[in-house]
Amino acid sequence: MTESRNVVIVTGIPGVGKSTVVNTAVEQVKKKHGEDILILNIGTEMFEVATKAGHVKNRDELRKLPTYLQREIQRKAGESIAEKSKSKRTIVDTHTLIQTNNGYLIGLPEWVVNAIKPKTVVLVEADSEKIASRRTADPSRTRDAQTVTDIQIHQEMCRGAAVSVGTITGATVRIIKNREGLVEEAAAELADTLME
Ligand code: ATP
Ligand code: MG
Repeated sequence: MTESRNVVIVTGIPGVGKSTVVNTAVEQVKKKHGEDILILNIGTEMFEVATKAGHVKNRDELRKLPTYLQREIQRKAGESIAEKSKSKRTIVDTHTLIQTNNGYLIGLPEWVVNAIKPKTVVLVEADSEKIASRRTADPSRTRDAQTVTDIQIHQEMCRGAAVSVGTITGATVRIIKNREGLVEEAAAELADTLME
């Protein structure tokens, strides 16, 4: 595999701080290298597809749809992301496992990752207690309530999913800790991966 790859997938459980770390890393790259990084979000792309088709009114309703419909929306979002990310350094911000009414929907199935061909999968992790409190303190989103033990299990499952993406695509897997109050540090690691 010698083709150059320009996509870094950033994943991790809801409320771990993906979007915060991504936005900070993009600012750091702009300051240091003067380069604009494209940020795409599979959830946002899916929301656009689903809204146009009249299936949902807000983003957090997506995971409540019948899973066949979520998969269909996910396929369209994956195609659109593969197209948009072709020619510049891109971050794809996404969930690894989406809790539906019928088990977990896999956020990065084979047909999505093979379309995107990431160079690296970055898994953002944080202390499970801190994630629980970040979710409660964030009024901008409606995230499902989970116990600290469930959050921990969910994070362990994300490691398995991230490794699977590496196995399918040859992408490297990098775990980045998003420590409380230290977003800049986590973002600097992501910026290094982007510019590698
Ligand atoms: P989702 O998957 O639901 O989109 P996310 O992983 O993108 O969630 P964010 O929205 O980035 O998570 O962050 C969730 C909340 O945690 C926000 O209120 C954010 O300000 C806060 N937060 C993120 N990182 C840190 C940190 N290192 N220290 C303290 N608070 C943080
Ligand atoms: Mg986010």
